[in-house]
Amino acid sequence: MEEGQPQALICATERNAATAGGVYPFPLFEDGDFDIPSVFMKDTEGERLATCKGESVELVSHATRIPETAYNIIARKGKGNAKKRVVITAHIDTKIGTFGAIDNGTGVAILLLLAELLKDSSSQYTIELVVFNGEDYYAAPGQIKYIDQNSDRFNDILLNINIDGAGYQEGISCFSPFDLPENILTKLREVLSDTPELVEGLPWYQGDHSLFLQQGCPAIAVSSQWFIEHMDCQEITHTPKDNLDIVNYNRVAECALGIFEFIRKL
Ligand SMILES: [Zn+2]
Repeated sequence: MEEGQPQALICATERNAATAGGVYPFPLFEDGDFDIPSVFMKDTEGERLATCKGESVELVSHATRIPETAYNIIARKGKGNAKKRVVITAHIDTKIGTFGAIDNGTGVAILLLLAELLKDSSSQYTIELVVFNGEDYYAAPGQIKYIDQNSDRFNDILLNINIDGAGYQEGISCFSPFDLPENILTKLREVLSDTPELVEGLPWYQGDHSLFLQQGCPAIAVSSQWFIEHMDCQEITHTPKDNLDIVNYNRVAECALGIFEFIRKL
């Protein structure tokens, strides 16, 4: 596209919950390093525009780049001589135009609850709580920074537990295991069978646990079962509908307690 030197890109996007959450139409390009201006419209409007082929149009787009500095926040608890880390993560950033209650305010709340629950307990493992900044931001800068900082240390991670999309009002919470060694999977299933509000979930990959999977670390993704089962058709995430009205606070507490029980068993 850059070789073709277009003046601008007019994108027509359909509904695609798996890619864009509930946003329709959604911006096809979210890339601050990409120099061709772009705008977006609904697929239906795009079809109308396409019938005007050959005619002249005037496009006015006011856009500006706003440089920003942001941070991940990392807390660690452990004796220092522990060989392995359990890394528990939740992203704190949201898309523009949403309150981000489920995606991912509840995840950060669960991390804070865990910090409280874990403060008087001890583990043979170092526990690392990571508030990621960048999951819903183009180029995932916080996640890239974490990968850089840990480039030679991923093999000391026992597993990642990533919380994203937890605490939805409908349904219960699910813990999805990825590549867990048999003994750890057994411990997870013990916790789930003791807790009727928590169930084993289907695999899904649109979250920060994927960065750990790509580095060869096992992971557990904690979310709301309703969202995982409606990933391709829900119209809530990344929109104003993702606000506190759709949060079930009991679900949030149950996730924190479930993760805490699981860590105690490790
Ligand atoms: Zn998220």
